[in-house]
Amino acid sequence: MKTATIHSVCECQNKLGAELDEQRRAIKGWARERRTGRVLVAPAHSIIRKDAEVFEVAWACPFCTRNQVRLFDTEGLSFREPGAQPASP
Ligand SMILES: [Zn+2]
Repeated sequence: MKTATIHSVCECQNKLGAELDEQRRAIKGWARERRTGRVLVAPAHSIIRKDAEVFEVAWACPFCTRNQVRLFDTEGLSFREPGAQPASP
């Protein structure tokens, strides 16, 4: 199964990331604390509209507890075979 990794930044300035499968579903999410580099699990899920080029990914940031929703373009995703690149940050 190929996966793609997306990144964003939370309002608290910590980084958010998620791994997506080819259906653009979020397999896992994480957040990296900007100041310390500490990485925590950040529950992520995709909001996909059928036949739409864009989709949204929502994260629950573990550092500030905000829910963050970001818009992504399907065209911008780059899918890779597992092992071609570390899936984790
Ligand atoms: Zn945050």
